[in-house]
Parts: sequence; structure tokens; C-alpha cells
Amino acid sequence: MSRDGEIRRVEDLVARGLLDADRADEIGRVVDRFALAITADMARLIDPADPEDPIARQFVPDPAELEVRADEADDPIGDGTHAAAPGLTHRYRDRVLLKPTHLCRIYCRFCFRRDRVGHAGEELSEAEIEAAIAHVAARPEIFEVILTGGDPLVLSDRRIGRLLDRLEAIPHVEVVRLHTRVPVVDPGRIGATTAATLRRRFATWMVIHVDHPRELTEAAAAAIGRLVDAGIPMLSQTTLLAGVNDRAEVLEALFRGLVRLRVKPYYLHHLDRAEGTARYRVPVARGRELMNGLRGRLTGIAQPVYVLDIPGGHGKVPIGADPLEPVGEGREAGTGRWRVTAPDGGVHDWEG
Ligand SMILES: *Cc1c(COP(=O)(O)O)cnc(C)c1O
Repeated sequence: MSRDGEIRRVEDLVARGLLDADRADEIGRVVDRFALAITADMARLIDPADPEDPIARQFVPDPAELEVRADEADDPIGDGTHAAAPGLTHRYRDRVLLKPTHLCRIYCRFCFRRDRVGHAGEELSEAEIEAAIAHVAARPEIFEVILTGGDPLVLSDRRIGRLLDRLEAIPHVEVVRLHTRVPVVDPGRIGATTAATLRRRFATWMVIHVDHPRELTEAAAAAIGRLVDAGIPMLSQTTLLAGVNDRAEVLEALFRGLVRLRVKPYYLHHLDRAEGTARYRVPVARGRELMNGLRGRLTGIAQPVYVLDIPGGHGKVPIGADPLEPVGEGREAGTGRWRVTAPDGGVHDWEG
């Protein structure tokens, strides 16, 4: 195995009892196409005797990944449509995505960037970083830079520090946000210097990707605690996944677990149609039903917004059920009558 207890190769899966040796060739073809890595912390959580293990289901490759459906795309959310420079996506006026690396510590089998992550040499060159920084520096309307990838915390503290130094020199950048799985899947990476590297003139926010309550181990809790104590506000994002977290009890335990660790659940993503991910689909009606079930039963600070990234690069929109329904005519005049659905399902007339 590559690092202690980490899974990087098909043989590692066989050695850990996560794959029958006679299926190694078949899975080898999947892994040639879509990168494999499972950190030791996540590999330890998998029960090889459970065919429905929610951690294995996220990270262990499956032959179905090579079955591409007609409605699946290699760039489902249209990153390419808004590419401003290599590694830079500028879709919304006030914020940009900067992807300094296409590598991750762990590869999710449902990733919407799965066609572009995990290949060797997938880091921005110095010149490409310069060009991305120049794009930001030339546009005072850019308030926020979102570091994503790949996973930016694959880079060393020293390299992230150099990148943040450059962003710090641009006065109109007031927020830098990191999208990462590292504090959860490789909590040992969050060392004493990490928080100090991240604290800056601008506000540094972190959004961690977590899909199942079991991922919130003691080690993850400690890493998150170190960051929050150091003044890094934390949000989370979760992808709604069949067989992983598409049950009310699982989502409730996850969102409560996050709030307990001082992480605010931010987005629940409807699955993007990346290639070979049909086995994770949850119908939007089911997603709404799950979210409606949480309203009223789970503290408001633990409720994420259920969102869809419209295919083709048109942006993210909330897709939770709308509690307001217009009644009759006249709402344009500001005298509208509405029917509003309460958390307990009761329907009430309201004017506004
Ligand atoms: C998701 C996304 C963002 C961030 O959106 P928020 O709603 O601010 O979290 C920014 N740019 C692109 C291209 C995105 O896909």
C-alpha cells in the first residue's frame, strides 16, 4: 500500500477484503478511467462484511461506472462554459473558482469533475497561477475567491500560504473560501501550522464535504475543532446519494453532528449527472420529501439549502418545496393572497 493503510491500487482493495480477486481486471478498467484513492481514515470505517456500507459505496469503484447514460455529461455543471483562464471559472460576477490542483486525497465515485480529477501532473503551473491572479486583480467586482479543485488541501501549507499571500495583495479580495474534504477524510493533515496559514487579512471560510454521519470521527472532530478555534468559520456541503444518505434519520444525524462540531450545513446538492453515476440518483421529489421532513423537526441552524446546479453552466438554484402558493389573481399589484404550508403540513391563508 502507498501510505499506511491508504488504498491507491486495485490490489489494495483485494488485500482489504473490499474486492474479490477475480473481479480485479474489471475494476482495473474502471480505475484506468476514474482515479482511485481512499485515505486510511476512511478505509478504516468500511465494514467489508456489509455489502451496503455507506462509506464503501462512496469510494469503492464499481463496474457500473463505465455505463454512461445519454443524459450524463463529462462536464455536467458547465465549468468549461465559464472558464476564464486555465484553472479559473468565473460564472458569477462577485466570485471565482480557482482550482490550483486537480488532485484529491480521496476520489468520490459520483464526483461531477470525475473526468478531470486525479491525473498526474494536474497542477497549475506558476505561469497559470500568475494569469489567474491577474484576472482577479484586474476585476474589482471580485469579492471572493473560492479555492477548489481537486482538493486545495492536497497542497502543502507552504504552497497554500504562497497562494494566499498573492491573494492578500489584492485589496478587493475580502473573502477566500476553501472547498475541501481533507479535515474529514485525512484529519491528520490539519496540523498546528494549517490554521495559522489560513488566517489572513481577508476572511477565510472553509466548506467541508461530508455525506454520512459516520465520517465525523473523533479525529475529524478534533481537526474541525482546531480550525474553528483558530477563527475559520465552517460550512458543509452534502450530496444526496441513493444508498448513502437518502433516509431522514441519516440526514438528521449528519446535520446534527455537524452543528455539534460548530459547522453550519450549507448546501444539500442534488446529484449532478456525471458519467457513470446513475446508481446514486435520487428523484427530486424524494429529495423534497426528505427536506420537508426535516423542517420543524430539526433545528433551523442545521437545515441546508437543497440545490440544483442547472446543467450547462446556468448556475445553482434552491429546489426545496415552495411553502407559498398564489391564490387567484392580483399578486402583481401587491395585494396577493397566498396559501402557505406550515412545517406540520397544515395549510393557511395569508396575504402579503
Ligand atoms: C458553486 C459555484 C460557486 C459558488 O456558489 P455559492 O452559491 O456562492 O456557494 C461559484 N462559482 C461556480 C462556477 C460554482 O459552480
